[in-house]
Amino acid sequence: MIPFDNSYARLPAQMFTRQTATPVRDPAFIVTNAPLAATLGIDPAWLTSDAALAGLSGNSVIAGSDPLAAAYAGHQFGNWNPGLGDGRAVLLGEVVGTDGIRRDIQLKGAGRTPYSRSGDGRAALGPVLREYLVSEAMYALGVPTTRALAAVTTGDTVLREEGPLAGAIITRIAQSHIRVGTFQLMAAREDTAALSALFEQVLERHYPDADSPAALLKAVTKRQAELVAKWMSLGFIHGVMNTDNVSIAGETIDYGPCAFMDVYHPETVFSAIDQHGRYAYQNQPRIAVWNMAQFATSLIPLMPDQDKAVEEFTAIINALPTHYDAEWLRVFAAKIGIADPVEDDRALIEDLLRIMQDGGSDFTVAFAYLNDKDAKDHFTDQAAFATWQAAWRARNPDAALMAQVNPQIIPRNHQVEAAIKAGQDGDFAPFHRLLAAVTTPYVADAEFSAAPTLDQTVRRTFCGT
Ligand code: AMP
Ligand code: MG
Repeated sequence: MIPFDNSYARLPAQMFTRQTATPVRDPAFIVTNAPLAATLGIDPAWLTSDAALAGLSGNSVIAGSDPLAAAYAGHQFGNWNPGLGDGRAVLLGEVVGTDGIRRDIQLKGAGRTPYSRSGDGRAALGPVLREYLVSEAMYALGVPTTRALAAVTTGDTVLREEGPLAGAIITRIAQSHIRVGTFQLMAAREDTAALSALFEQVLERHYPDADSPAALLKAVTKRQAELVAKWMSLGFIHGVMNTDNVSIAGETIDYGPCAFMDVYHPETVFSAIDQHGRYAYQNQPRIAVWNMAQFATSLIPLMPDQDKAVEEFTAIINALPTHYDAEWLRVFAAKIGIADPVEDDRALIEDLLRIMQDGGSDFTVAFAYLNDKDAKDHFTDQAAFATWQAAWRARNPDAALMAQVNPQIIPRNHQVEAAIKAGQDGDFAPFHRLLAAVTTPYVADAEFSAAPTLDQTVRRTFCGT
């Protein structure tokens, strides 16, 4: 049983299409998330039942669910696309958790919808396992993120460029799936009634302290700045920061070609489709500003005096880089053990990053061992590191703080790919081992902490849609 309490379905009808999932041939659970179920107010014992399997594979409609596919638009790689929407996802409904937070329960890979365009509405096993691992790792790392309640294999085959692949469905949990692109669609349609209803729902659901479009914009931009700073502090590269993949609630959403970098280099790009590096590691803060400018534009129709609104919103967007810089300093200072950074610490951090970049240090390992007696082993230019270390020591770094924020384990691309490959061959043991490791990221583990060897290093990731 799921204690559904649905609100999105009460928005104006043009914002979605009622749509049930398409049944699958032979569903089987790969994994279920009992602790998350408990938070959602779902009985963990029910979650592993046949009824849950039928409901979470799309073979039956769970009581209280009011399934729908949401409409949205978005800028993809900077190009406007008015016709996106849930093309392979169905929102089952919402629950209010034991923590009082309302969350969406969505099936991703649930079959065709009116927004599928030429797609099959399905997901292959690889991207489902990747999303499960990375989103749960992000949660364990303290990053706002959508989560994974369950993953099933469908028993059906999906056709992708690589050939026929096993199909799968992930049950995704989010504070909501409302995106910048949801606002953009209503603004583009000049549907001010729907835009206004969406605005009201977002205030009630995510930003109860905001009371105007400007206040909402300020709050959303603040969460984006904090989110992207966290990504940067972990070497996380989202890979597809299109406006349809930017959650209004400020969670990381849409784990496609995302990746954690191994060797530190600011220009790192993994996504095979990101040919110009628009969403490279170092570009993420700039792109967040661009995306928030699109969000601001979509809010203008809600303002009585639009010229004045442009002025006011521009000031809010222009303040974003300052917020971001402050957040960046805070999270990176914590990584070197400084809880209350001063502006001078920025140079100290940048010096360390430069030594890492010049020598090709592994980002995660270099920080994880920074306080170790053998720290210098993780830097090629040991003399430069020794000089830096002396300056750093003078700042009296807090070792406990460093241990709290520097993970020993991230979902390394080569590990994720190995778990996927085994899963495709029917062996989910490596997936489960990796999941256990990445969800306890501050505990070192010989198998999963190490940086990849040159042979193991993954250089390209794919959306797999
Ligand atoms: P994404 O790149 O995952 O953000 O997806 C962009 C758009 O393509 C969204 O509207 C998705 O719903 C849609 N889409 C992605 N994969 C599929 C698929 N296999 N079938 C139908 N629609 C898809
Ligand atoms: Mg998307």
